[in-house]
Amino acid sequence: MKKIFWITLLIFCFFPFVSQAAQIKTVKIIKPIKILIVPGHDNEVWGAQYKNLKEADMNLVLATQIYNLLKKDKRYKVYITRNSQGYVKEFADYFMTEKDNIITFKTKAKEATQNKIDTGSLISKINVPHNAVSADTSIKLYGINKWANENKIDLVLSVHFDDTNRSTLSEIGPYKGFTVYYPDSQMANAKESVSVAKSIFNKLHKKFTTSTYPEENNGFVSDQKLIALGASGTLNSTVRAVLIEYGYIYRFGNSAMRHKFYTNAASLTAQGITNYFFPAKK
Ligand SMILES: [Zn+2]
Repeated sequence: MKKIFWITLLIFCFFPFVSQAAQIKTVKIIKPIKILIVPGHDNEVWGAQYKNLKEADMNLVLATQIYNLLKKDKRYKVYITRNSQGYVKEFADYFMTEKDNIITFKTKAKEATQNKIDTGSLISKINVPHNAVSADTSIKLYGINKWANENKIDLVLSVHFDDTNRSTLSEIGPYKGFTVYYPDSQMANAKESVSVAKSIFNKLHKKFTTSTYPEENNGFVSDQKLIALGASGTLNSTVRAVLIEYGYIYRFGNSAMRHKFYTNAASLTAQGITNYFFPAKK
């Protein structure tokens, strides 16, 4: 009798655990990968320009194509910061209502980074030179990072075209080719970002030449100062960040060639992202 009592007790004690374990095994966790596409610059500050061609417009066309391709895949939840009308409501509202908080977020992050540099725990590196951004632009860029952290974004992809400083901007400059930028190894999100950057690079490299600008290191470069990559630790460790300069703007004067490029580049970028998040089983 005593024996039966103990056996019954044992069964009752373990049963909840057994049933819980079985449940965990059978519940399929469906978690869409969250991707934020950022077409670089905007209608107010449009970045590079070659004749009538504005970089912000090119970024938008290409970014929208990447957005549309990824959106078709139900494993992703995809966001974009702006469309042909300007910033989408979510971001326009966020920049306005969160302005003070974004400034605090940026100031605190910069102070913390300076402290780390002063104490020697962070080594400041020389990066490929980029144009400094205005106060207003920096609110948008840091705002996007703050939003990406809060919304647990898995990948922030920034889309750009390059330019070269030269005396006559209506003439074709010396460089060509694309560059994929990823966060410096000391940055919080570096570990997660490098692989996705490489995966996209490998795809783009199948079809396009890498940058011939020597400082762009054959098209694959780490950077510490680009806000879009999480400068000053402003992107959490799980928020992967990649910034692509798809080519030098003065090489895209021909409309037919440019549109063909958008289609190919969008498709290869989306494939690179998917190869990273959902590698084919061997
Ligand atoms: Zn740009």
